[in-house]
Amino acid sequence: MSAAPSQDAAQEKSEVKGYFETTGFDRWNRIYSESDDVNRVQRNIRIGHQKTVDNVLAWLREDGDVANRSFCDAGCGVGSLSLPLAELGAASIAASDLSEAMVAEAARRAQSAGLNDGRLQFQASDLERLEGRFDTVICLDVFIHYPQPQAELMVAHLAGMAEQRLIVSFAPYTPLLALLKGIGQLFPGPSKTTRAYTLKESGIVAAAKAHGFVPKRRQLNQAPFYFSRLIEFVRG
Ligand code: SAH
Repeated sequence: MSAAPSQDAAQEKSEVKGYFETTGFDRWNRIYSESDDVNRVQRNIRIGHQKTVDNVLAWLREDGDVANRSFCDAGCGVGSLSLPLAELGAASIAASDLSEAMVAEAARRAQSAGLNDGRLQFQASDLERLEGRFDTVICLDVFIHYPQPQAELMVAHLAGMAEQRLIVSFAPYTPLLALLKGIGQLFPGPSKTTRAYTLKESGIVAAAKAHGFVPKRRQLNQAPFYFSRLIEFVRG
């Protein structure tokens, strides 16, 4: 077998990291905030992403037992989920992100929100290098940066750390989105960001299934310029 695919994967990951330490950090730190310094597209992405976060929090609230559960928030960004999760009373939250800049901002936000009682722990780490066992493992809007095979490997790794539940979100592959993406490539916008990958839900579900998880609740969250499939898997 050739070593090329994994070298490509490592290269891709280091590009994602570089982006989220620099221009990506500036862009997403503004999107995931209340700052007025965002354009129309960014404001819509903010609205859509908040729907995903609120959706997860609503599910957890519905279950009514967050205080008994340990969480892993893999690719936590600036803490958009981890902070409200701590506010909701989660027993412990291990929040981590590939980008040191993102994780430092998440820790800063936690500190300024007075969430420093030790339940919330931050770590800079590639999610594929995370270890430990958690009641619930969550990974929101991270897989968009990776092609299908890598995203499925990530699902497998995260499933291995989850005792009860795995919650992930990703941009789903649909023929319409594929068409729009094609148009985007014909008329590239002025600002180049990272590549964005849409993923086949069937592949994500199969990867989770291979590690003992079956879908329980699912939702599609959208706003203009934001499209994200959210799935909760439980041990089946
Ligand atoms: N989950 C957060 C952040 C989403 S933005 C939220 O929903 O608010 C995507 C984040 O994924 C970025 O912070 C980026 O640094 C992180 N990321 C990308 N690849 C990663 C990887 N391999 N391991 C951990 N985090 C990663």
